[in-house]
Amino acid sequence: MTEADVLPFTRPDLDEATIAGVVEVLRSGWLTTGPWNAKFEQVLSEFFGGRTVRAFNSGTVTMEVALRMLGVGPGDEVITTPLSWVATANVVLAVGARPVFVDIDPVTRNFDTSAIEAAITPRTKVILPVHLAGLPCDLDAIGALATRYKLRVLEDAAQAIGSTWRGRRVGSFGDFASFSFHPNKNVTSLEGGCLVLPADADPQLAERLRLQGVRRTGLDGMDVDVVGGKANLTDVAARVGWGQMQRLDGFNRRRTELAKAYFAVLDAMKLAERGVQLPVRDFTDSNWHMFQIVLPSGVSRAAVMQALKDRGIGTGVHHPPIHLFTLYRKLGFKPGDFPHAERVGAGILTLPLFPAMRDGDIGRVCGALDAVLREFGV
Ligand SMILES: *Cc1c(COP(=O)(O)O)cnc(C)c1O
Repeated sequence: MTEADVLPFTRPDLDEATIAGVVEVLRSGWLTTGPWNAKFEQVLSEFFGGRTVRAFNSGTVTMEVALRMLGVGPGDEVITTPLSWVATANVVLAVGARPVFVDIDPVTRNFDTSAIEAAITPRTKVILPVHLAGLPCDLDAIGALATRYKLRVLEDAAQAIGSTWRGRRVGSFGDFASFSFHPNKNVTSLEGGCLVLPADADPQLAERLRLQGVRRTGLDGMDVDVVGGKANLTDVAARVGWGQMQRLDGFNRRRTELAKAYFAVLDAMKLAERGVQLPVRDFTDSNWHMFQIVLPSGVSRAAVMQALKDRGIGTGVHHPPIHLFTLYRKLGFKPGDFPHAERVGAGILTLPLFPAMRDGDIGRVCGALDAVLREFGV
């Protein structure tokens, strides 16, 4: 079996109009941030109910900019989850602050909102929820805590574009929200991200932090009053992102359909009774960024992944717990600190789910999974 025969766990879907649009941008003579970046920000702003949005060249830098805008730095604490892509905690370290982890709820796999309050200290500045796999955190509970303790909220909604919380789109309400357009996300701009700003934030500060702190006046005036980075999005990337936004609703509907198909087959296989944890059955709020199962402890995930690959099925691991990485252990975190995140992180397995999957692929994945799990005595 060659790599090309393996069904990947995800794959971006670019239509011909977008590809042709990219060629036009390439021929236009303007490649970096320009008219398409403005159009992309406009379509994003409309998507998020008219809120102010700025685009960046990654979801990671988007979060870092938000933390800088909030003045988070040395001595400050940011409360977040240990079960996320490492970027979530890395950005906290990048601004000199300290991540404070709260263990996850093993059912939702998002951090347990009822445990946040106990983690708040006089140094806490921000609550940083992650909507893992697109399943939203309890944004009412988080908002209430933020109000009560005068904290700010930065949603790491990298995986949650198009998700809703009680009928309202994630990012269309609340405080700061950050999204990613990495090729594995539900929509892509090759690389990229965007920040939804609250009314009290200065979009021009976001722009200065995005590009060297530069502020221009008139035809020849330029000043720099803040340390900005180099985080602007090219028009080539923005053109791709704009084209993808036209298709987001259709993508997410298809993902939901495929997730339902997974449950139908996995339920018939009695997977839950065999000790395999299925995701929460949320067909209203989740954008089904990923379909993830948790293998029973004692089963080698690497061996299962290899056996599935041998049968033409690609899988992924999202994510190993952040606090167990060397960098974080050096900060004092250790095994046993967050048992639910460690257990789920050790067994979690992302199955293929992307809009271009065919209905028959679900049966193929589940058939292979059934055979492999039986081999491993599950
Ligand atoms: C993808 C992702 C990011 C980072 O986004 P990039 O665009 O890759 O920088 C951050 N947090 C989470 C939860 C993600 O899934």
